Amino acid sequence: MTREQSLERVRSRREPWDMIIIGGGATGAGIALDAAARGYEVLLVERSDFGKGTSSRSTKLVHGGVRYLEQGNISLVMEALKERGRMRQNAPQFVTDLAFVVPNYDWWEAPFYGLGLKLYDLLAGRYGFGESKILSLDETLARIPTLKTEGLRGGVVYYDGQFDDARLLIHILLTAKDRGATVLNYVAATGFHAGADGFIDGITARDEETGETFECAGKVVINAAGPFCDQVRQMADAQAKTMIAPSQGIHLVFDRSFLPGDTAIMVPHTSDGRVMFAIPWLGHTLVGTTDTPIPEAVAEPRAKEEEIAFILETAGQYLAHAPSRDDILSVFVGIRPLVRSGDAKNTSALSRDHTIHIDQNGLLTITGGKWTTYRHMAEDCVNQAATLARLPERDCITANLAIHADTGDDYVGQMARTVEDVLARRQRTLFLNARQAIAAAPQVAAQLAARLNRPPGWAAAQTEEFLRLAAQYLP
Ligand SMILES: Cc1cc2nc3c(=O)[nH]c(=O)nc-3n(C[C@H](O)[C@H](O)[C@H](O)COP(=O)(O)OP(=O)(O)OC[C@H]3O[C@@H](n4cnc5c(N)ncnc54)[C@H](O)[C@@H]3O)c2cc1C
Repeated sequence: MTREQSLERVRSRREPWDMIIIGGGATGAGIALDAAARGYEVLLVERSDFGKGTSSRSTKLVHGGVRYLEQGNISLVMEALKERGRMRQNAPQFVTDLAFVVPNYDWWEAPFYGLGLKLYDLLAGRYGFGESKILSLDETLARIPTLKTEGLRGGVVYYDGQFDDARLLIHILLTAKDRGATVLNYVAATGFHAGADGFIDGITARDEETGETFECAGKVVINAAGPFCDQVRQMADAQAKTMIAPSQGIHLVFDRSFLPGDTAIMVPHTSDGRVMFAIPWLGHTLVGTTDTPIPEAVAEPRAKEEEIAFILETAGQYLAHAPSRDDILSVFVGIRPLVRSGDAKNTSALSRDHTIHIDQNGLLTITGGKWTTYRHMAEDCVNQAATLARLPERDCITANLAIHADTGDDYVGQMARTVEDVLARRQRTLFLNARQAIAAAPQVAAQLAARLNRPPGWAAAQTEEFLRLAAQYLP
């Protein structure tokens, strides 16, 4: 179904949708799939492109979260490990195994991390990705020849998964469409309607390409707007108290030569008490991330100078050839939708569990969690939304539901609408090498103009707009 056909379906619909979902990131897409697979009638609206928010800006790990193990959050780790296994089972084209080495420079690190990672293996049970193992110095260097050798004693290897987040997202949405969901990008929720009882019973939506507005009735409205979920809640109730403590994380991308093999590095303790990863990804080396509280979520967050300096410095402590600012090919930034907690001293201490919150007006908000746990979050959300909407109870079937096979199409189903959609999220050029993306923009604009039958001048305007955006991905 084309975007125009989906819009026509929205225009002509007289019945309320069973569920309306606001936000086309991992959370919203997972809910659309879960609900449609149960046979509910679903509309999902995304104000920008699918994955424009945090869901294309992750560290690309499908993981249980070794860090949460250290924090003693065993139940979160177990749930994520189970979901990691299900993601690989249901989307094998998108999720691959990745070996990580924790380099050891102190005598106690091999037994300490060796034991911790054995527990990680144990918690994964039958969903395991590979057995962790203590490595000798030679074995460590054979896996990561670019490690600094001074003081290096050896390492511990363990396994997790990795993926192309934006690409999987599009294919989750295609699976939801296969099951009957109507999903629209560049359609924003701009307001709510409520019945005489004060309960929300629909939204006003606006096509961001044409300005056309739609009144959409829904038995329940789900706010899956991630870091923007308070802005959506306050659109429904200006007095709603905020629940998000937004925090940004940056990634620097370098040439593959910094990590030439197929093994990643995990640094378990940076100077600010976090973990940091250096990961081989799509022929490049991705290093991140940070955890910096910010006052408010914005669509294009920018890396702070001190964040760039911190990542360069930490990478330089572990790599024989320390990367410099000139080596950076791209910088990208994501915002964590962390849920506030009264006693947490900083955002890195806030829970990565998901939260479901229902406002007095009946708006259901789901936020927090991780990409890895998107399916479980969706199951939980649809269970609660169905009860709230008094829908007939139906079982969740996504635990064993295969995700749509990779289409291999960078413009997927005409769902790509702008040069940015193609170069940032269908292909990942902007995230991998901003200069290359800038060079490719005019050609992509011309191809897209032809595919979408755009008027003269559109391609040039698109190129210009993209160049302005891409400048932010250059260091
Ligand atoms: C730096 C960083 C690294 C991470 N790394 C990992 C990792 O490696 N592995 C992992 O499992 N998790 C990771 N995470 C967590 C994971 O990326 C997030 O939990 C997840 O992407 C959140 O998805 P979401 O759908 O809730 O939010 P988003 O992806 O932000 O989606 C919300 C969407 O709502 C849309 N929206 C907002 N307002 C409206 C409106 N009015 N109308 C319509 N649409 C609207 C936005 O445009 C946006 O696209 C990471 C997070 C960060 C920040």
